[in-house]
Amino acid sequence: MIKTVALFDIDGTLLHTRGAGHLGACRALASAFGAEPTSGEITFAGRTDRGIVSDLFRLHDIEESAENWHLFQTHYLQHLKETVAETAGVVLPGVELLLRVLDEPGYSEIAVGLLTGNTQQAAKVKLAYFGLDQFFLFGGFGDDWACRNDAARAAFENSKTFAGGELKAEQIVVIGDTPNDIVCAKAIEARVIAVSTGSYSEDELTEAEPDHLLADLTDTDAVLSILCG
Ligand SMILES: [Mg+2]
Repeated sequence: MIKTVALFDIDGTLLHTRGAGHLGACRALASAFGAEPTSGEITFAGRTDRGIVSDLFRLHDIEESAENWHLFQTHYLQHLKETVAETAGVVLPGVELLLRVLDEPGYSEIAVGLLTGNTQQAAKVKLAYFGLDQFFLFGGFGDDWACRNDAARAAFENSKTFAGGELKAEQIVVIGDTPNDIVCAKAIEARVIAVSTGSYSEDELTEAEPDHLLADLTDTDAVLSILCG
């Protein structure tokens, strides 16, 4: 029986690709639409791919149609497979050990999923590059929603399905590195662990009032006690 669902953000929480997504998106704009590769003042961290691409399309005067979204995605995924290798990213401290421990039979009551702004396929490309994709069997992704709160609602529904039906909001723990991760966790009334391994400081994260704030995920016991609590 599943007692807790841990939903991990990817970028800035599990790993740093060092700009592979940004670079892949710029190359996709160029190869799919012949657009000058600029992302202007657009923020990437903590947002969904759908929302980011929507802004990129507006910036480049590209019509936001289903066809263009699909074309962008096809090009983006091809470029991402290359940029993720080019930018020499890293898995963040403590992540591999934590995921391996959660994968042990003794922790089978904790289900591990994703709550990320990446599309499902982009998430798979990034995680597979770092050898982490096998730990995540379900989640909420940034394919269909500009707003991360909607991805959180999808993650909740998919968590329920994975858990086989009954699952209360307080049984879910979101782990993320941006104020948006905290906001979307609150939107589904889940608990939230903020980690300051991304582009936001502890002070900035504190303002969004996470239930827990950790410098990183190296203290496996501390994370486990929150998940089991
Ligand atoms: Mg993040």
